Amino acid sequence: MTGRQECDVIVIGAGSAAFEAAVAARQAGAVRVVMLEKAPEAEYGGNARYSGTGFRFVHGGAADIRAFVPDVPDDVFATMQINPYTAEDFERDLQRMTLGRMNGELARTLVAESARAVRWMLDSGIKWEPLKEHALVDGKRYFERGIAIHVAGGGIGQLRQWRALAQRLGVEIRFESPVCGILGDMRAVEGVRVAAREGSYELRARAVIACSGGFQANPEMRARYLSGATDFIKVRGTRHDTGEVTRYLLELGARPAGHWQSGHMSPIDANAPDFETPQHEDGRGNTQSRYDYPMGISVNALGQRFFDEGEAQHSYTYAKTGRAVLAQPGARAFQIYDQKGLARQRYPHHVASYEEAASIEELARKTGLEPAVLCDTVKRFNAACPSEPAFDPRRLDGRATRGLEPPKSNWANPIDTPPYRAYPVTGGITFTFGGVQIDSRAQVMNVADQPIRGLYASGDIVGLFFHNYPSFTGQTRNAVFSRLAGEHAVRAN
Ligand SMILES: Cc1cc2nc3c(=O)[nH]c(=O)nc-3n(C[C@H](O)[C@H](O)[C@H](O)COP(=O)(O)OP(=O)(O)OC[C@H]3O[C@@H](n4cnc5c(N)ncnc54)[C@H](O)[C@@H]3O)c2cc1C
Repeated sequence: MTGRQECDVIVIGAGSAAFEAAVAARQAGAVRVVMLEKAPEAEYGGNARYSGTGFRFVHGGAADIRAFVPDVPDDVFATMQINPYTAEDFERDLQRMTLGRMNGELARTLVAESARAVRWMLDSGIKWEPLKEHALVDGKRYFERGIAIHVAGGGIGQLRQWRALAQRLGVEIRFESPVCGILGDMRAVEGVRVAAREGSYELRARAVIACSGGFQANPEMRARYLSGATDFIKVRGTRHDTGEVTRYLLELGARPAGHWQSGHMSPIDANAPDFETPQHEDGRGNTQSRYDYPMGISVNALGQRFFDEGEAQHSYTYAKTGRAVLAQPGARAFQIYDQKGLARQRYPHHVASYEEAASIEELARKTGLEPAVLCDTVKRFNAACPSEPAFDPRRLDGRATRGLEPPKSNWANPIDTPPYRAYPVTGGITFTFGGVQIDSRAQVMNVADQPIRGLYASGDIVGLFFHNYPSFTGQTRNAVFSRLAGEHAVRAN
């Protein structure tokens, strides 16, 4: 397969954004769509292979969600408390999380197209399941606004479904086919260069859609761009997201966008593997995330608290909390829970290492913390917990510590019911926030602020987020911009 070849649309990658773009291009009328994936077939799928793939989108509440989960029995569905999530809610969340820095046009496109994109997936045959509720109270299952469903079978289920659909539509997938160059310049792109095992070749097309992910698995690029101790970070997803396609596009003249010094970084078991945290067999996402910190306290290796564990539900804080952990001595921390906190865990099925003890002093000894300091931290925290308002896991309950720095702004319950547990955590990177600028048709912009003819992008390669991120927006962004890229790549050529 050397020399020069042609097709209608090239998609770089075979992760979720790539499958969505390939299917959308084929549905829009492209006859020959070729996906080029660097990984071998057994490792294709990018980050989705390690993810639960929940989606955040605009909807009108339980009645809208029902269409996605028709197999849930009526009596079970009746227990699901799903409030509407409006366009204003979603846009406010995006701008609040990104400290008002997200590109307004792209934020509006993401919000306005979110329901249509998820509906397009349903209509294309993708099956869905309810997410796990965030609180179970009196037999009722409460869901956070905007997040109620994920693709059946989680990330692997999503990949299998997309791959079957792409194959039915005649999309060609070439594994072990790393893209090693882009043909074109800052005005127009005509194809790519592929470093296949049998030899390099040029593949020309009317449009190229870049869906090659972030650069989080490349230590050199992490050191070059990200702030903080990211040399020591664990990579939660694929080892194949090494950012070279991002570099080729920047060299070509694509405009950089997003927060280059930052990324989605969440707390993870300190003993997790350096790359690719394993999936649950039933598709409920990766196994070693440590998201239940709002139900306890976190201390650093000096035994001191260092952030507000109860600032908001974890879905609004987890993507920045990994960075906070990474900034602590030794890039480590410990999540401390008593039995009340453990009973409220939302992710008890996550597998993680921990120590357990009948007293805080013994827990400190087992974890290597200074007992006097940890006992003092817990004592001062307990003394600052209020008796009112009542603890309520369904919402921000305003049960905040009094006179403590840093505060715990919600769900502040004393750590007083043994046995106690300490989970060692560090920072895990999910994806990077720096990437290329696209417009609202997913076309890549150049440094002269003009669209590059024939070049589109979707997924983590797009520079979109700053500082923080509302959970489950990555998959929605993929579906929205991949669908637009696939359609416009065909229409515009
Ligand atoms: C553990 C975990 C849990 C997550 N949970 C969720 C969730 O529930 N909801 C949500 O919205 N988001 C979630 N995310 C984030 C989300 O999965 C990612 O944002 C999303 O999968 C990125 O999709 P992508 O297609 O852009 O990149 P990827 O899925 O990473 O795909 C990129 C592909 O490009 C290939 N590639 C790279 N370089 C080249 C090259 N030179 N040539 C050819 N191919 C190349 C890679 O091999 C890879 O297959 C999670 C991520 C992780 C890691």
